[in-house]
Amino acid sequence: MSKYQVTVGNVGTVYDGDDQQKADEMFDEYVEQSRSGYGRAAHEPVCLMNVDGEEFREFVDHLTRYIKTGQGCPVCGDEADTEGESITVEGVFAIQPMHCLDCDHEWTSRYRLERAR
Ligand SMILES: [Zn+2]
Repeated sequence: MSKYQVTVGNVGTVYDGDDQQKADEMFDEYVEQSRSGYGRAAHEPVCLMNVDGEEFREFVDHLTRYIKTGQGCPVCGDEADTEGESITVEGVFAIQPMHCLDCDHEWTSRYRLERAR
């Protein structure tokens, strides 16, 4: 069994071997791709695992994290202060223009009605 594994979101395992330096390089390379938003690893989470459990590095793209948690800013991170404008409802969707107070990024969050009882 190999010592190091680097996995990338829906790309799969991109490194599987015993060379730690190589594993680190692959990790950094895919984090760069994920961050840049280009290529097959765009916005994908990247994970480096050591079979012994000694080392564990994880990178989750801010946009991916934002979509999962709704916390912070999709550009600069989960610690950011954000401000939402008033919500407009369109059918099953609620649409809210958002603004980050830290990096000035503006985006629109769209919420969907999933259940009612
Ligand atoms: Zn921001």
